[in-house]
Amino acid sequence: MRAWRTIAAALLVARVVAGQSSPMKTESPWLDDQNLGTPLRSEELPQLAGSLLEGATRLIGRALIANRAVETLEQLCDDCGSRLSGSTGADLAVAWCLDRLTRDGFSNVHAERVMVPRWVRGHCRVTMSLPREQELAACALGGSVGTGGRPLKAAVIATPSLETLARLSPAEVRGKMVLLTRKMERDDPASGYGPTVSIRSDGASAAAKLGAVAVLIRSVGTGNARLPHTGAMNYDPGVTKIPAVALSAEDAEMLDRLIARERDVEVSLDLGCETLPDVESANVVAELPGREKPEEIVLLGGHLDSWDLGTGALDDGAGVVIAWEAARLIRELGLRPRRTLRLVLFMNEENGLRGGDGYFAEHRADLANHVAAIEADSGAGRPLGFGCTSSDGDLARVQQLGLLLRGIGAGEITKGGGGADIGPLRAAGVPTLGLRQDSRWYFDYHHTAADTPDKADPHELALNVAAMAVMAWGLAELDPRLANFPAENPPRSRR
Ligand SMILES: [Zn+2]
Repeated sequence: MRAWRTIAAALLVARVVAGQSSPMKTESPWLDDQNLGTPLRSEELPQLAGSLLEGATRLIGRALIANRAVETLEQLCDDCGSRLSGSTGADLAVAWCLDRLTRDGFSNVHAERVMVPRWVRGHCRVTMSLPREQELAACALGGSVGTGGRPLKAAVIATPSLETLARLSPAEVRGKMVLLTRKMERDDPASGYGPTVSIRSDGASAAAKLGAVAVLIRSVGTGNARLPHTGAMNYDPGVTKIPAVALSAEDAEMLDRLIARERDVEVSLDLGCETLPDVESANVVAELPGREKPEEIVLLGGHLDSWDLGTGALDDGAGVVIAWEAARLIRELGLRPRRTLRLVLFMNEENGLRGGDGYFAEHRADLANHVAAIEADSGAGRPLGFGCTSSDGDLARVQQLGLLLRGIGAGEITKGGGGADIGPLRAAGVPTLGLRQDSRWYFDYHHTAADTPDKADPHELALNVAAMAVMAWGLAELDPRLANFPAENPPRSRR
C-alpha cells in the first residue's frame, strides 16, 4: 500500500512538473483522468447574462438526471438496423424518425427529398491461398466493384502508404494485389484518422494506375478484435476500377510479416458488391419555432445513414440522438428560444454527402437566416467542447457560451469546426460548430460490425446532450446573433 502511494505521489509530481493534467491513459474507455470540469468562479459569473446561466443550469441538470438519448439510440438501431443510403434500413429510419419526432411534439416535422447512391455489398469471401489456406477477416470497401461472379486470385505485394506505392514501378505491381499497411495510431485519433484514411479513399486508383488487379488495406481503425472496418472509397475518372478490400489489422499484419519473410503470398477475392441506380431518400427535419425571430435558424443535427456492417450506433446514431434529445429537452423544459431550432438528420453522409448538398440546395435562398449550424459526428465519447468556424469576434462570443459548459468539462471552444453535412453552409459563410468529443475509443468500432448501441455509455451520452442543448439554446438566444462571415471560397458546385 505504502509503495503504491509513493509511486502515485511521484507520478503526480511528475505530471505537475510536466505541466500536464492527463499524461496517462487508462484501460477503460469510460474512466479517464482527463479534466472532468472546472466550475466557474464568482468573478466569472458576471460575464454571463442571468437568463443564459439559468437556462444552462436547467438543461444540464435535466440532461444528467433524466434524458431519453440511450433509449432513442437503442430503439433506432434495433428497429431500423443499419442504414446505408438506399437500403431498407435507411427507408425505415426516415419513417421512424418522422413518427417519433411528431410524437415528441416537434413542429414542422417533414422529409426533404434527396436522391442517393445505392451500393450493395453482396457476398464477400477473402481467402489467403498461399503460403497456406486461411479465410481472412475482411470486407469490401464502400463503393468497390465486385469480382464479376468469380474469384480473383493474385500474388500480393505490401507497401505502407500511397507515397511508398508511388515509388514502385509498374513492373513490380502489374497483375498483383497491393496491400497498404499503414497503421492508424490510437493516441490522437482526431489527427490519426485524417492522414491514414487516404489509403482507404484513394488506394484503389493509385494501385490500378500501376497495373494492380486489386487493393487490400489494413483497416483504418484502432480495434484489436480482428474486425474489418469498411468506409467510402473513390475511383479516379479514367482509371480502371479494381476491387478494394479492408482486412482486419491482425490479418493485414500477418500477410505483411509473411511477405517480409519473402514467402509467396496469394489471396483470392470473391466479392458480390455492385453499384445500382440512384434512389430517392430524404433528410428528416423538425423544428422548435422561435419566440421572437422564428425566421432565424440555429441548425443542429447529425447523419441518419450509417455503414451496413453494424447498426450505426456510434456513427452516427449517437450524433442523431444527441441533437434530437438536446432539442427535445429544451422544449420539455419550456425554454422557448428567441430563434428557431431546426433539427436536421442528414442522409448519405457516408458515401456521397447528398443530404448535406441537398439541404444546401433546398435552403440556398435562406442562408442569411441561418445563424449557426452544429453537427455531432464523433461518436458517443464524452464532450470536450466545440470547434467553431466564424468571424474572430463571434468566436470570442461562442467562447463565452463555452463558460456555461466548463463545469462539465465541455467548455473548450477551439477555432475551426463543423461537420461534413454542414460543410456547404460553412463554405457559404454560415458559422458552423462541431461537437468535440473524447474519440480515443471511437475508432475501435467505427465502420465495423461492432458499432452497436451497447458501446455508448449513458453518462457520457448525457453529458453530450447537455453540451449540445446548452450550445444550441445559447446560440438561439444570443443577442445580437452570430453574423455570417465572408465566404472564403465560393461554395464549390456539388452534385
Ligand atoms: Zn459519421
